[in-house]
Amino acid sequence: MKVLKVNQPASGGIAMGSAYLYQPKERKIADYRVSSEEADKEIERFEAAVLKAAEELSVLAGENPIFAAHLEMVKDVTLQEAVTGKIKGEGNNAEKAVVLACEELILLFEAMEDAYMKERAADIKDIRERLLSQLTGIVNKPVSCGKDSILIAPDLTPSDTSSLDLNKIRGLITRDGGVTSHVAILAKSLSLPALVGVKEILSEVADGDYLILDGYNGEILINPTEEEKQKYHELIKKHKEAEQRIKAEESLSSITLDGREVHLCANVGNIEDIKKAVTSHIDGIGLFRSEFLYLGSSHFPTEEEQFEAYKEAAVTCSREITIRTLDIGGDKTLPYYPMDKEENPFLGFRAIRISLQEKELFKIQLRAILRASAFGKIRILFPMIISLEELRAAKAAVRECMEALNTADISYDETIQTGVMIETPASVLCAEELAKEADFFSIGTNDLTQYLLAVDRGNSKIAALYNSFHPAVIRSIRHVTESAHKYGKKAGMCGEFAGNEKATELLIGLGLDELSMTASLISGVRYRIRRMKYEAARKLAEEAVNKATVSEIMELL
Ligand code: PEP
Ligand code: MG
Repeated sequence: MKVLKVNQPASGGIAMGSAYLYQPKERKIADYRVSSEEADKEIERFEAAVLKAAEELSVLAGENPIFAAHLEMVKDVTLQEAVTGKIKGEGNNAEKAVVLACEELILLFEAMEDAYMKERAADIKDIRERLLSQLTGIVNKPVSCGKDSILIAPDLTPSDTSSLDLNKIRGLITRDGGVTSHVAILAKSLSLPALVGVKEILSEVADGDYLILDGYNGEILINPTEEEKQKYHELIKKHKEAEQRIKAEESLSSITLDGREVHLCANVGNIEDIKKAVTSHIDGIGLFRSEFLYLGSSHFPTEEEQFEAYKEAAVTCSREITIRTLDIGGDKTLPYYPMDKEENPFLGFRAIRISLQEKELFKIQLRAILRASAFGKIRILFPMIISLEELRAAKAAVRECMEALNTADISYDETIQTGVMIETPASVLCAEELAKEADFFSIGTNDLTQYLLAVDRGNSKIAALYNSFHPAVIRSIRHVTESAHKYGKKAGMCGEFAGNEKATELLIGLGLDELSMTASLISGVRYRIRRMKYEAARKLAEEAVNKATVSEIMELL
């Protein structure tokens, strides 16, 4: 028996079955020159392909938000202009023009450092395949395999994954991709165990090998012994029973045995996420990353466009929703907003720094959020704050927008709260002063961990150093909650750490009032909260902040 291991599993659970190797066929693409008279005909062919692709995607979009995003992308003028330019300007036929235009976009996304943005390249590849299927009439066959299969592939596009027969497939393993890839996200939402980025998978596993995929520990057992199989059958049974227990308490409140209630909220990136999140039992949206509006557009979204989006978000959510103002820069760039190349982009022109310098753009967003606040309970959250001056300047911009709305007799929520994302060491150390003037805190552990430890969150070479259980992070959290509470303010957490069940008791003990995470993780966290005592959690946290190393903290937990 051979065992393969990865550091971070993509989706939990255990799957057992036969390996099914899926290798999509390479397409042969027609490549010929077209004259300027023929170019119009090629453009017509391309436009017809876009229409057909959009029709297909409109149907798929109802089932899956990834395809709703593809629908927007396929209709976007950036892609259309790029392809028509390759036909009219460079004399390529439609198929070749699609390949060339998509290649440029793929390279652009792949060059980005942020793991999430890198994954957008996979979207473009999928859109390219859909357009080529329309242009050539040749469709890649959907994945078809036997019962109880574990699908193994170099990579899987969202279209591949949407054609999976879930009655037969028990788990997924890909050679490429990261834990924020579509395969990972999809696997999580379908509760399919999955491991991604398993470099040696195609060379070590043959079609038909018997596999155990352990999505909890990131392990693949190849051709295990009968004894191992028996052990895992029993584990699966235990996990199933636990899942049923968790599900049974899904709609109950998240309250500890001694009566402390903690808000459990969802993190979302677009309207489709909100629609999905509200089908689970959530206390609100703790983080609405507003970037999607900007990244998915070919121009700075207007006040009207933003207002409509935030209003829809607030109405769809129907509970409190925290909208974070634009957090671009670092590695997230907008094609219509050129930025100078920086030596240290994560320490550079980013988030609130851009908003405070580009005041007009900031005010457009704030006015849109304020107007939407007349339609639901909205809070505003400022990212990357490092000083009281920044908070004051951001709040002053909100006040100016309120005055303009008063003059124009446009209604908004006059009691709207403004909060600070605690994600820089400076904001931790100035938490007391910030707490006096902010209405609430939300700790962004993704960035806070990288800045406190000086460990790039997207660099796989030092991934083992990136750890939110580090004493520096744990002590920072405690200081932030204490500072907030001293001035009667609430402190929440919206970084990935909030959804880590191993940390739940510690986080409650550290005094957090709200945890916001991917919606699918909420029920597990709730189950834990309902079984713990706040007093015991506080003692645990007290001990944890006095530990000197990650391993001592882990041992304690
Ligand atoms: C964070 O930094 O923890 C956070 C929630 O924001 P983002 O991951 O969008 O930087
Ligand atoms: Mg952040």
